[in-house]
Amino acid sequence: MDQTNNSSGASGPSGPKKVNNVTVVVDRNLCIGAASCVAVAPKTFALDNEAKAIILDTATEDSLDTIMDAAKSCPVAAIIIHDDTGKQLFP
Ligand code: SF4
Repeated sequence: MDQTNNSSGASGPSGPKKVNNVTVVVDRNLCIGAASCVAVAPKTFALDNEAKAIILDTATEDSLDTIMDAAKSCPVAAIIIHDDTGKQLFP
């Protein structure tokens, strides 16, 4: 299977992705496909065919509050958010 989830530092479908003034990444090793993030922020998150969350291009249409709420809803804290100064906002 052609998977883009490599460890070479290249950005894959689960990020890191710049969304307005934050950077969002899903730790695919932690993600259990619970889809809470998709329920809270459907413009930002979707599940791929491995049931791992990916970050959508429409993420810029969600507010930071919505994306933060989605991160907080994740049962395994797999969504990691940094601001543009590199400060970790969540978890
Ligand atoms: S809520 Fe967390 S575990 Fe569930 S799909 Fe989203 S990132 Fe994965």
